Amino acid sequence: MLITPAYAAMTAKAPIAPHTIQRREPGPHDVLIDILYCGICHSDIHQARDEWGGSVFPMVPGHEIVGNVVKIGDQVTQWRVGDAVGVGCFVDSCRKCEACREGEEQFCEEGASFTYNSHERDGKTPTHGGYSTCITVNEDYVLRIPSGMPLERVAPLLCAGITTYSPLKQYGIKPGDQVAILGLGGLGHMGVKIAKAMGAKVTVLSHSVNKRSDAMALGADDFVVTSDKNAFTENLKRFDFILDTVSAQHDYNAYLELLKRDKTMVLVGIPDPIPLAAAPLVMQRRHLAGSLIGGIRETQEMLDFCAAHGVLSDVEVISIQQVNEAYERVVKSDVRYRFVIDMASLK
Ligand code: NAP
Ligand code: ZN
Ligand code: ZN
Repeated sequence: MLITPAYAAMTAKAPIAPHTIQRREPGPHDVLIDILYCGICHSDIHQARDEWGGSVFPMVPGHEIVGNVVKIGDQVTQWRVGDAVGVGCFVDSCRKCEACREGEEQFCEEGASFTYNSHERDGKTPTHGGYSTCITVNEDYVLRIPSGMPLERVAPLLCAGITTYSPLKQYGIKPGDQVAILGLGGLGHMGVKIAKAMGAKVTVLSHSVNKRSDAMALGADDFVVTSDKNAFTENLKRFDFILDTVSAQHDYNAYLELLKRDKTMVLVGIPDPIPLAAAPLVMQRRHLAGSLIGGIRETQEMLDFCAAHGVLSDVEVISIQQVNEAYERVVKSDVRYRFVIDMASLK
């Protein structure tokens, strides 16, 4: 076993604090990764604070992990010591069910082993995430970072990148499409960049008046403040696609009215439930859908797409000691646009 410094939530009410965990020595098919950077996703906060229920404590959050391979098992074929790699939201799955066979491991019918707040395949060993100095992962659940990409700006692609790329790809976004990105945070800013790289006309729908210039600098074509009383009437039936990344409760019904006939709004943000009316869907044959991260194959495709299009996250690099302060800023929508922890601060 490898004794590993980490930061953990001990209970839902406790701040994230120093902790020690054990990592397994790499088995024949495992790689050991020295963690260099780990992004902070709003899902870390939802889970560390048990906002979704069922959290497992102590919890070491973090599923936007980048680092270098430092050790490999004797049957590893895909990786060498020194490779720059990433680990996203899950570290294993059953490999046999229909979802796994189709490369959609996040939907594994037995339940994927998520990177933290979950269990290994034995169903009892807790998994721990990237707020730590190293991680041991089966080689099939590791991503290749294309060469030349700055690693701290790649880390957020492992969750925020794939979560926005996947629905934009699945729904066939193409040049000229009118795409709205709802919420300009970690996911939202990646959504803007990726939709632009796909050729879409991108509008940011935001409740933060002061993010207009940022949105335009990130590549958006338009910016709408949703608290403006005319916002909904002026943008009625405007969009071919809405990607909803908002982490807090908001009225889906109002946003559905902004879609053209037959078009789709995809939810990726996971706030508490709110009532849904039939009329906005029925009257214009609109669709409301959801999406969860992406499988390993699609995550690699997204990394290669981002490398080819020069897409990177805009990050604020912090030390692990600043993590609680960063959580407070994320909750206040004051992240520009992803906090990334420099894990050297824990070594
Ligand atoms: P984030 O950085 O906090 O961004 C969320 C954005 O939502 C904020 O920046 C803000 O944008 C908007 N927002 C926040 N509070 C609001 C409020 N009260 N009213 C209206 N808008 C509000 O979070 P994130 O890391 O991007 O994650 C977003 C959500 O996606 C979270 O619920 C997270 O758990 C979920 N998530 C889902 C998946 C998936 O696979 N489906 C993956 C990762 C994360 P403006 O300031 O522009 O309004
Ligand atoms: Zn995430
Ligand atoms: Zn499976």
